[in-house]
Amino acid sequence: MKDYDIIVVGAGPGGSIAAMEAASRGLKTVFFERGRKPGEKNSSGCGLGPRMWQDFRFMTELTPDSCPSMRAGAASRSYFVNKQGVVAGYVMARPTESVSYEPAKSFITMNVYRSDFDPWLATYATNAGAELKTSTLVTGLMREDGRVTGVIDEHGEKYRGLVIGADGVVSMVARECGLRKRWGQDHVTLIPQYDYAVDPRKIDDIMGDETLAVWWSALFPAAYHVFFHDGFHIGLGNWMTWWDKNPLSYLNQVVNLEYFKRLVRILDARPREYHVHLLPWQGTPTDTHADNVILVGDAAGVPCPLEAEGIYPAMMTGRAAAETAAEAISAGDRSKEFLDLYDRKWQQTSVGEEFKTGPELAHIWRALPFSPKETMTWFVPMIMEILGGILDWSQPHAVRVRQVMRQVKSYLPQAVPFLVKEVMPLLQAILGDKMELLTSPEKLMASMPELQEAVASAFEEKEGSS
Ligand SMILES: Cc1cc2nc3c(=O)[nH]c(=O)nc-3n(C[C@H](O)[C@H](O)[C@H](O)COP(=O)(O)OP(=O)(O)OC[C@H]3O[C@@H](n4cnc5c(N)ncnc54)[C@H](O)[C@@H]3O)c2cc1C
Repeated sequence: MKDYDIIVVGAGPGGSIAAMEAASRGLKTVFFERGRKPGEKNSSGCGLGPRMWQDFRFMTELTPDSCPSMRAGAASRSYFVNKQGVVAGYVMARPTESVSYEPAKSFITMNVYRSDFDPWLATYATNAGAELKTSTLVTGLMREDGRVTGVIDEHGEKYRGLVIGADGVVSMVARECGLRKRWGQDHVTLIPQYDYAVDPRKIDDIMGDETLAVWWSALFPAAYHVFFHDGFHIGLGNWMTWWDKNPLSYLNQVVNLEYFKRLVRILDARPREYHVHLLPWQGTPTDTHADNVILVGDAAGVPCPLEAEGIYPAMMTGRAAAETAAEAISAGDRSKEFLDLYDRKWQQTSVGEEFKTGPELAHIWRALPFSPKETMTWFVPMIMEILGGILDWSQPHAVRVRQVMRQVKSYLPQAVPFLVKEVMPLLQAILGDKMELLTSPEKLMASMPELQEAVASAFEEKEGSS
């Protein structure tokens, strides 16, 4: 039996930050990784959000020397694919003028292979004094007098201490301590993806800094396309409740699009790896802790409810867990009631803020690119009608405007129920009792100053709390 203050299961982003924060508070800390090194699995959680640079100062030390795969996703493309499998158009976007800080002004995501990033992150924990045990699978929780008091590894070795479960989406810690038997099918997504190798100079020449993309279509759920220094990932996912066919067949539809094949040809991209991953994606997380146990990151189900950014939430909850654990140890109270402090801590951060309007935003997102048959069948042609119709010389422009309007009108039987079912609840959540203004244009115009004030103060509140 070995005694520690803190035992962290998992050396992904959540585990490494929990171990770093615990060790830097002088707590005797060990963290376990089943792989030969952190990030060995090289999962596609690969786009680092700029908030990481705000909240973790050491992120400025992430350089191509320490993380050779890094490539900034400075601009993103949204490709719109029609029912015939033709890219009917695309929109490119950069961080906009309202973005308030660096490096968010320079990139949307910093893309890294996790096989580079996770080992780099883990060194901050070991440098702070945490002990890293690699190639060690933690197989169970140790109990004394019926209470969880530590963990047991695959060799039967026992370790006593407060347990932080940072063991990812299929969390042994969550299951063994009784917090969760399994995910609900609509709380977890399944994501197949291909990794391609590409000469970095080709990516520079052909893509420039447009190295992020989402493919929207009625043929498949939204696909993501992320470029690294010497390669890219193309993948797509959906909730477990939605797979009409084998998920891989949808991904293969993307890679078989003529447009995509042309990109592969001109980039001279070569398939390198195939992965399938799970990712929790849900509304507000519950059941994040028990007596002497705290879950962080994917194990706790904290990826952003809208876009499923999960690395930053894992790191922030890792920090909140270590702070809570330190307070519990010094108070001599590791009960679930004391550890409620953990929820209060992470909910006060920018991660908690995501969940406040989370469900309404998440519904819209789910009902848009992840509902190919229901929504994308009218959404893609409607967007293309609006964008493409303007750039059309087939008729005098006034005639074209009337034709476009008639065509857009034909989508209203689908678009209006979507607005009522998905957009109105979001407006309701934002506008509250001012909703009735939307029913009267005169009242709406008369209340504009008041509304502008309300929107401005809502944002002031948000900025202040982040
Ligand atoms: C396809 C895909 C794309 C994604 N894209 C993004 C993105 O672009 N940006 C973003 O921010 N997030 C993204 N995510 C989400 C992100 O990858 C996760 O939210 C994040 O990795 C969670 O970190 P974590 O530390 O909680 O868990 P993990 O990263 O899963 O780390 C858990 C670690 O624990 C180890 N482990 C597990 N069980 C045990 C055990 N019993 N004993 C010892 N070790 C164990 C594992 O080997 C692993 O190293 C994506 C996810 C997927 C699946």
